[in-house]
Amino acid sequence: MSEKINLKILRQDSPDSKPYWETFTLEASPDTNVISLLMDIQKKPINANGKHVAPVVWECNCLEHVCGSCSMIINGKVQQACNALIKTVGTNITLKPMSKFPVLRDLRVDRTKLFDNLKKVKAWIPVDGYYDLGAGPRIAPEEQLLNYELSRCMSCGCCLDACPNVNHRSEYMGAAVMAQVVLFNAHPTGKLHQSMRLEQVIGVGGIVDCGNSQNCAEVCPKELPLIEAIAELNKQTTKWGFFGSLKW
Ligand code: SF4
Repeated sequence: MSEKINLKILRQDSPDSKPYWETFTLEASPDTNVISLLMDIQKKPINANGKHVAPVVWECNCLEHVCGSCSMIINGKVQQACNALIKTVGTNITLKPMSKFPVLRDLRVDRTKLFDNLKKVKAWIPVDGYYDLGAGPRIAPEEQLLNYELSRCMSCGCCLDACPNVNHRSEYMGAAVMAQVVLFNAHPTGKLHQSMRLEQVIGVGGIVDCGNSQNCAEVCPKELPLIEAIAELNKQTTKWGFFGSLKW
């Protein structure tokens, strides 16, 4: 059974233009997700006043809660539009672009700073070439378990958006970046770059800029153990600062 949906969207025509609200009225079943509503508007961009307007711009890719690109603020909570069903968000819906990234247009933001910071901390395992390197190093199952949790980060940026310490006056890189440092420092091969990673997170924008609000863990759609990761990174940076090593 279809229901009447009131969709209020904070729109912005270009990176420098002034945002404005526009409302759309649609019919949809409770099992519909917010992306489908946006697709309906794209097909028929007529607002609640019956005026033909420019289609709303947003970003999406996988549509199965894996890529993180459709992150936006839905009814005040940052989350993925593909995963937000009408039956959970209700029939009066407000959509806003994420607040900590520059808006490109409407609901589409530029998350480059998150990816740049992941590059800065070398959030990867270095491999020398693409030939067969043989079996990888053995990792204890309990370590694999924690690492697997951290590896589920989809770089959506929700943890940055909810963090009071990520703002235009701060260079804090955010919980996602801190967690990836812990993940790649834990890997036997990733350890080769641990000094470079720790140098980056000891400095400005690093772990000392975390205010421990724990909002990141509240909003993380993948429920990553971010508080535990940040605590672990605090431990690592303290040891590194004192001893220049992670060994006591
Ligand atoms: Fe998104 Fe969670 Fe990764 Fe942050 S840690 S970018 S909220 S998946």
